[in-house]
Amino acid sequence: MKIPRQEMPEQAGAERAANFREVNQGYAADTARTESQRCLGCKEARCIQGCPVGVDIPAFVAAVEENDLNRAADILFANNVLPGVTGRVCPQETQCEELCVRAKKGDSVAVGYLERFVADWARENREDLFKPPPPTGKKVAVVGSGPGGLTCAGELAKKGHAVTIFEALHTPGGVLKYGIPEFRLPNDVVEAEVETIKRRGVEIVCDVVIGQTYTIPELMNEEGFDAVFICNGAGLPIFLGIPGENLKGVYSANEFLTRVNLMGAHQFGRTDTPVMEAKQVVVVGGGNTAMDGVRTSKRLGAAPATLVYRRSREEMPARVEEVKHAEQEGVILRMLTNPIEVLGDDDGWVRAIRCIKMELAEPDDSGRRRPVPIKGSEFDIPCQIFIEAIGTRANHLLTQTTPGLEVNKWGYIQIDQNNMTSIPGVFAGGDIVRGAATVILAMGDGKNTAESIHKYLLNSQ
Ligand code: FAD
Repeated sequence: MKIPRQEMPEQAGAERAANFREVNQGYAADTARTESQRCLGCKEARCIQGCPVGVDIPAFVAAVEENDLNRAADILFANNVLPGVTGRVCPQETQCEELCVRAKKGDSVAVGYLERFVADWARENREDLFKPPPPTGKKVAVVGSGPGGLTCAGELAKKGHAVTIFEALHTPGGVLKYGIPEFRLPNDVVEAEVETIKRRGVEIVCDVVIGQTYTIPELMNEEGFDAVFICNGAGLPIFLGIPGENLKGVYSANEFLTRVNLMGAHQFGRTDTPVMEAKQVVVVGGGNTAMDGVRTSKRLGAAPATLVYRRSREEMPARVEEVKHAEQEGVILRMLTNPIEVLGDDDGWVRAIRCIKMELAEPDDSGRRRPVPIKGSEFDIPCQIFIEAIGTRANHLLTQTTPGLEVNKWGYIQIDQNNMTSIPGVFAGGDIVRGAATVILAMGDGKNTAESIHKYLLNSQ
């Protein structure tokens, strides 16, 4: 009980604010072992209930303590096909770690850091973990290669089904690749975990837009797939709807991050899809996407890079660690501040954001205190780039080309208790069902749906 939670070594704030290398450096073996000794090995392990893919946390942590990393990897990969990813980007503080008994009287066990440690070790040392089993002869199509699609594909492949993932972009990974920046989740970690899924026998076909290249009925009736899992995310940006949004220099966070993460836009003058070079950048939003946008701008040289958010810090949905890291890197956080107009110069470029100060009133339907504008408190923040990170929604391309597929009023796909849609044999999960959520929830959907698809395939023999 006397051992304190082991800190994650990280790059110093000032140094990393100017590079894209990973901020967190990972535990060394002796630190991981020390941290593992803090686990009480509870019989009724509440931490497992907090994990949407059901990793047996006390068991893998005990294996780390006994220095049996082979066993730790077996336990971890049995329930999680992307542990190097989840060990880096899961909001553990509101999931497994929040339920850790030790959190009642101090700091929880650092489950995420230990998960990352074992996953990184296994990728180097455990080729055998990813061997494909004998084939069942059944074919499943997965639409989208984000965490939900990859997990479903990996779990189905473990059972011997032939899985093909169709991905609209030129590279697999979904938000893990185009949204979350290198300094939080290096591309080579995502690529290595995608590789382990391919080694299980999964085929990934990129540059294919389902709803355009093939429709869902074509996959089922002409391409011979026995079942389909739709996990195409909810990546269509929402805009504030304020005057001036069409000015040059306004980006959605998804566009800005995709240009940088996928298309090297930060290599100014050296790529065909650049972002603007800007001295001052303002980002609006309070979630992980907003944090990624503002921290990326900082690394591209913005001085200052400012984040505005209409509520207070306590209400920010971003991970606590991201907010702390942003501040250490010199990002300016302006809470209780809401943009009301984008101001432009005579040539149509952004020159400033007009904002209004807010105060918090009674809680609204979301349970959070409602922000209301303070009359007469308008002020301008000069900038050349304005990035909107206030949320995303469903893209209708796929749903509109799939007759009989039921969606709700926001365009999210409706499913039953087995994650099956209104079309027999067509299943769905992840953000396209839940609305924008988290990596591990999409993975939980992928895993549960793989089980449902497996049962469906056995029954339809
Ligand atoms: P996605 O990851 O969106 O993947 C969907 C895939 O489907 C994409 O590759 C897309 O190109 C493809 N696709 C779309 N339409 C088609 C089509 N018609 N045909 C073929 N392919 C198609 N969550 C966390 O837990 N922690 C974080 O730190 C975190 N940070 C985030 C940062 C950013 C910038 C963003 C945008 C989100 C973040 N999230 C985070 C949320 C998390 O990434 C998502 O909830 C998660 O990726 C959803 O997974 P998914 O598999 O449902 O969809």
